[in-house]
Amino acid sequence: MSDSTMTDEVIAFDDEFLSQLEGQMSVERIASEAPPIIEIENMGCVYGKKRALEGVTLDIPRDRITAFIGPSGCGKSTALRCLNRMNDDIPSFKMDGRITIEGQDIHGRQVNLTALRRAVGMVFQQPNPFPMSIYDNIALAVKEQRGRVARAELDTIVEGSLEQASLWTEVKDSLKDSAFSLSGGQQQRLCIARALAVTPGVIMLDEPCASLDPISTAKIEELLLALSAEYTIIIVTHNLAQAHRISDQVAFFLMGKLVEVGETRAVFESPRYEETGNYITGRFG
Ligand code: ADP
Ligand code: MG
Repeated sequence: MSDSTMTDEVIAFDDEFLSQLEGQMSVERIASEAPPIIEIENMGCVYGKKRALEGVTLDIPRDRITAFIGPSGCGKSTALRCLNRMNDDIPSFKMDGRITIEGQDIHGRQVNLTALRRAVGMVFQQPNPFPMSIYDNIALAVKEQRGRVARAELDTIVEGSLEQASLWTEVKDSLKDSAFSLSGGQQQRLCIARALAVTPGVIMLDEPCASLDPISTAKIEELLLALSAEYTIIIVTHNLAQAHRISDQVAFFLMGKLVEVGETRAVFESPRYEETGNYITGRFG
């Protein structure tokens, strides 16, 4: 995978750094009381003979941000891709265990894969807008989902999703321009807008800031925090400061196993397992 080519800098999460961050914590929310939106039970995955994940059991809380952290190759992207069955396209891939979304088994016979992938949208490390205008990037996603849509309604959806992705004011006068005319950070927000336009419940992001500068990264973080009022967000990140700043729950993976999961502040401040402590203090990465 592309993890090795471009990863966020790993910041040592020692006491000094933690105390610096203390003042910057933007939100502290109480644990979600709603039932989890996703339940993962004893998930195991292989690619051919190679085992990528084993015995992963994890709940994803609704309308919260969950961060998957851990060194490269530990199975974070695999875990993410299982949640909307993107790995099904890889012939050697096999998964066992059970994943439910809103109580529905995603491997159930009646599951429509296209609908699942819209309900659980994905944003990748490299922004991947379609080679067309900013407007059409969103309009096409909507038309693929719904067939013919009246122009006025499309206009409303395009504006609404760009607004939600904090991009509208920057692009409202250039909607006909190519999506490639945007900066990397703007392209990433366009990809988020495109995912939002098809009304997902869950948005997954796999290292979405790995190719972005700090200012664009800050904008994405702010955006994700705002979106988490209404959407369940799962983010893979190598940037521990980012996980600390924006996530409510953090899941630490190591060599295919979920070592520890818990409320973000608790995991960073008093990890239960030595491996977690070693990772977040930068002793290995
Ligand atoms: P992470 O996102 O934490 O870096 P991955 O989920 O990408 O980890 O990878 C977990 C393991 O599965 C790694 O050993 C990786 O080489 C392997 N893997 C990932 N994708 C594939 C694939 N398409 N085919 C074969 N092996 C893969
Ligand atoms: Mg990965």
